[in-house]
Amino acid sequence: PPVLAIVGRPNVGKSTLVNRIIRSKQAVVEDVPGVTRDRVSYDAEWNGKDFSIVDTGGWEQDARGIHRQVADQAEVAVDEADAVIFVVDGLVGATAVDEAVVRMLRRKKKPVFLAANKVDSEAQMAEVYALWNLGLGEPYPVSALHGTGTGDLLDAAVKALPDTAQHGGLVPRGGPRRVALVGRPNVGKSSLLNKLAGSERVVVDDVAGTTRDPVDELVELGGETWRFVDTAGIRRRQHMAQGSEYYAMLRTQRALDKAEVAVVLLAVDEPISEQDVRIVQLAVDSGRALVIAYNKWDLLDDERRYYLEREIQRDLGHVSWAPRVNVSAQTGWHKDRLAPALETSLTNWGQRIPTGRLNAFLGELVAAHPHPVRGGKQPRILFGTQPSSRPPKFVLFTTGFLDPGYRRFIMRRLRETFDFTGTPIEISMRVRE
Ligand code: GDP
Repeated sequence: PPVLAIVGRPNVGKSTLVNRIIRSKQAVVEDVPGVTRDRVSYDAEWNGKDFSIVDTGGWEQDARGIHRQVADQAEVAVDEADAVIFVVDGLVGATAVDEAVVRMLRRKKKPVFLAANKVDSEAQMAEVYALWNLGLGEPYPVSALHGTGTGDLLDAAVKALPDTAQHGGLVPRGGPRRVALVGRPNVGKSSLLNKLAGSERVVVDDVAGTTRDPVDELVELGGETWRFVDTAGIRRRQHMAQGSEYYAMLRTQRALDKAEVAVVLLAVDEPISEQDVRIVQLAVDSGRALVIAYNKWDLLDDERRYYLEREIQRDLGHVSWAPRVNVSAQTGWHKDRLAPALETSLTNWGQRIPTGRLNAFLGELVAAHPHPVRGGKQPRILFGTQPSSRPPKFVLFTTGFLDPGYRRFIMRRLRETFDFTGTPIEISMRVRE
């Protein structure tokens, strides 16, 4: 869905506004005094349009100065949003911090709607009119507490959001969780699906050539229902094995796009092939949660096993963070290990590290292992934030470009410190002058 970001200083009433917008959709998250709520995303609906609200919650004040952090946090939220509601305290007017946020908003060229909150009476309108000076257009006087004015504000903001249909690239939410079972021909995808589905039942295929939408199948695993996407492709394997690798990869990509978690299936009776490695890479690059399953374990002898482990280290060492499940689709051996692995990967895929914890981690890491000095300069990490999950993405604000080696080091330490088993993670940087 499209994303509406709510930004503003602490205490201007953002949370109350957010709660008012989402009131009918889900339980309200209570503010606990002194506890940082951090960025949170909620599903919301207005005038028949579904969208997500990203609320940039409270911030911890630290030695590095709250002003910069407010602006930086807001910036990351705004980059990800389709439209922005900028909330100021209508009783206080625009402060220096507000003006810093306004400068950032102007650069972003996204639709911005200015909400003057806590306005309960006509007497307060003078302060509201003064907000025209911010150059963000008409201020919307609202009282998030009483609900006055929020309807007009939302009408305008939601109108600026793109229709869901046009908004590509997002992972679908809701319903049974979606699994893409992928792998080169003959590794046993079809056999595994049959085993997981509980019986060798005959699946009536769509009439050849008439299928536009590949068929999904619902499968019960570990007490839960999972949607295996594009299984028609797996079922039609006789024809597919003949098809070119190009089309096989295209189908794999399409299944990954529709899924939240990928199971890449390999067969242990043959050496790991280039195509296997390419499929693993597609899965990693898709940003989905990942499980790697090694099939045909019943065919393994000691010698092959020795070579297999070496091949795994050599060819798949870079994805050692993915849970590994050894199975036999033929005998059903270990088939019950798949669901827990899927759970683990999905849980970590959706993980959010609160900004406070992330910065405590970064502070310790930088103190113990500062960035090497390059050409008389030593880039510093000012602070970090995780703007999104599914998969976890981190943004580091720095005073210069970090060495690739140092970036990998941070990545490794992140994985050691927090549990990111089964999920790719991304780190990007914002360099400050
Ligand atoms: P797909 O192309 O990935 O769907 O692979 P299939 O499910 O069609 O399996 C390819 C071949 O491998 C078939 O002959 C299966 O019977 C065989 N096979 C699949 N899984 C296993 C397994 O765990 N052990 C053994 N021994 N054979 C398997």
